[in-house]
Amino acid sequence: MIFRSRIKIDREIINKGLNLKVLARYGIGLDNVDTDYAINRGIAVINASTASCISVAELTIGLMIASARNLYPHIDSVKKGEWSKGMYTGIELHGKTLGIIGFGKIGSRVGVFARAIGMKLLVHDVKDVSTEVEILGGKQVDFETLLETSDVVSFHVPLTPQTYHMLNDDALGLVKDGAIIINTSRGEVIDSRALLKHIDRLGGVALDVLEEEPPKSPHLQDLVKHPKVIVTPHIGAETVDAMNRIADELVDNILEAIKWC
Ligand code: NAD
Repeated sequence: MIFRSRIKIDREIINKGLNLKVLARYGIGLDNVDTDYAINRGIAVINASTASCISVAELTIGLMIASARNLYPHIDSVKKGEWSKGMYTGIELHGKTLGIIGFGKIGSRVGVFARAIGMKLLVHDVKDVSTEVEILGGKQVDFETLLETSDVVSFHVPLTPQTYHMLNDDALGLVKDGAIIINTSRGEVIDSRALLKHIDRLGGVALDVLEEEPPKSPHLQDLVKHPKVIVTPHIGAETVDAMNRIADELVDNILEAIKWC
C-alpha cells in the first residue's frame, strides 16, 4: 500500500489488509502510521527518507527571508496597486542567531544554508550532534538556552509524544521579543493557541504545517490571518525535483522490502 500524509494508517486499516506486505509512505514522516503495530504483524513500513530534504530546507530559508523582509505584505500591496515602501522595515539575517531544533537530515542542511547567509548557529537535538554542529561553526545547547538566545527559531523534529507541543506557552515565554519562529516539520510541534497568545511580541511566524490542515478551527483561522504570520499549505516537498526523487527512492525501497517478504 502506497500512501501520503493525510490518510491515517491505523490498526483498523492494517487489519483490513489480509495480504498486506509493505506500507510505503510517499514522503518522509511516518507519524500517520501505527508503525509498531504493523511491524509486529510482519508488515514492512518504509518511506523515502532523504528525497525531499533539499526542497524542505530551501523552503525554510525562503520562509525565513520572507518573514524577515515582510515580503508578503509588500508583494500584496504592489499587487493591489499600492506602494508600501517605508511601511514595513525588515531585518537582515546576516549576523543573527538561528536556533535549529532537530539537526537531522533537514535541520543540518538548513544549518549549511544559513551559514552561507552569515548566520550564527545554535542547535538543540536529543542526540549528540555537537561534532557536526561545531564543523559548521555552531554550538549544541539545551532547548531553553536556544529559545532564550536565538533571533530565528526553526523546527525540524519528527512528531513524537516528546515533540508534541514542544513550543508551548512556557517555552514561548523564553523566546526573545522580535524573534521569528519557523515550522516546516509538523504542525503539532507548536501549540498554536499559545503561539497566538505570544504573537504580538514576536517578529514574525512562518509555517508550512499546521495542527489542522487545511485550518478550520477559529483560533487557527485567527492565526493564519494574523498580519505577522505567513503560511504555505504544506508544500515543503512539492517540487518537481523532490517528487521525482521520492518516487525513485520509494520504488527502490519497495523492491528491497519485497525481497524479504
Ligand atoms: P530526521 O529524523 O533526519 O531528523 C530529526 C532530528 O530531530 C533528529 O536528529 C532527532 O534526533 C531530532 N529529535 C527527535 N526528537 C527530538 C526532541 N524531542 N528534541 C530535539 N530533537 C529531537 O528528520 P528529517 O528528515 O530532518 O525531518 C524533520 C521533520 O520534517 C519531520 O517532522 C518531517 O516529518 C518533516 N518534513 C516536512 C516536510 C514538509 O513538507 N514540510 C517534508 C519532509 C519532512
